Amino acid sequence: MELLAKTKGEEFQDAALRLFNIAAEHLNLDSGIREKLKWPKRELTVHFPVKMDDGSIHVFVGYRVQHNVTRGPAKGGIRYHPDVTLEEVRALAALMTWKCAVVNVPFGGAKGGVRCDPKKMSLRELEGLTRRYTTEISVFLGPESDIPAPDVYTNAQTMAWIMDTYSMHKGYSVPGVVTGKPIAIGGSLGRKEATARGCVFTIQEAARELGLDLSRATAVIQGYGNAGSIAAMLLHELGVRIIAVSDSRGGAFNPKGIDPARALEHKGKTGTVATFPEADRIGNQELLELPCDLLVPAALEGVITKENAPRIKARILAEAANGPTTPEADPILFANNVYVIPDILANAGGVTVSYFEWVQNLEMLHWSEDDVNRRLRDIMTRSFQEVREIAAKERVDMRTAAYILAVGRVAEATLLRGVYP
Ligand code: GLU
Repeated sequence: MELLAKTKGEEFQDAALRLFNIAAEHLNLDSGIREKLKWPKRELTVHFPVKMDDGSIHVFVGYRVQHNVTRGPAKGGIRYHPDVTLEEVRALAALMTWKCAVVNVPFGGAKGGVRCDPKKMSLRELEGLTRRYTTEISVFLGPESDIPAPDVYTNAQTMAWIMDTYSMHKGYSVPGVVTGKPIAIGGSLGRKEATARGCVFTIQEAARELGLDLSRATAVIQGYGNAGSIAAMLLHELGVRIIAVSDSRGGAFNPKGIDPARALEHKGKTGTVATFPEADRIGNQELLELPCDLLVPAALEGVITKENAPRIKARILAEAANGPTTPEADPILFANNVYVIPDILANAGGVTVSYFEWVQNLEMLHWSEDDVNRRLRDIMTRSFQEVREIAAKERVDMRTAAYILAVGRVAEATLLRGVYP
């Protein structure tokens, strides 16, 4: 009898658990602690109405999951996407716990999501949705308890609405309740670029180790949102030739190189990079399999699988997205000598500068962009080296090493705090 196929969200949740279990096994964790770290602390599902532009009322479903708060307040983005499910948000919340632990910022992990199609909604509808969703999950939120940030299809404007809604309920301004805000209301310089910049710092470390000269390297970028487009531009500044870029509507390929800033401008005008002139169109699947030095998946989870992993030809795979590689693909990539910089390390620059933003808000300080970038580089390179050392010592791949580091830190904090009461 054939079992019911799992949904994408369930598969993602299984994948996150599998990685956790491998690390727990390496660390020889007690089974009680293992159970404690495995399950989300709290999950909130909300159904809420929004008045649409045509006068109708539409009911949306949203989630906020706090996976773990042992090392500090729950931290993690909010995504708006038609495929959002509780299982997906759960997996992403766990990833945030491990990510914050890898870079050793004093946060736990959380994630939120609303099932909606933001591309089909007006700005006014998105504002209404954001303000009502914020109100519904406000029992969780607070600068000391749970701090959202942007994720897929949310941005600084979304964070401004969240900050304003929360502040209106309180009766005073609370900038520290969200990060990734506009600079004018307490956002940090360098936050917008941070996920991509952090990812590029880890690529530089990996390239140094492999003896790869980035000024002669080629890169393929999947996804052209905040992380993908800025990674393309930062790599371009280092002399990397960007040979292909894509978004949800398809990709553009030119072996001679694509100017990433012009590709972004084209996307701004037409809604996609796929039709970028002076380049051939290419599908999102085909793009992943192009011969290149650097492959940067910067869109959604589950795009590198056991099916296409044997055909991945990149030298370095830097996961700017969360969960782009399935666990079955990992051993194939490892055997084929693809240097994987795992998501919880490669994209941790975003939450690292979120931490800087939160600190600035709480202290009412303002750091210069140079200061932010210098601190970010220190944390990313130090974390990369820590993961690298574990990989060498334990003879495991970089992903397993990152999980060993992260799970070990959260387990230590859990043991020190003990079980209440
Ligand atoms: N959404 C980003 C991530 O997945 C940023 C989270 C944050 O800054 O809290 O890492």
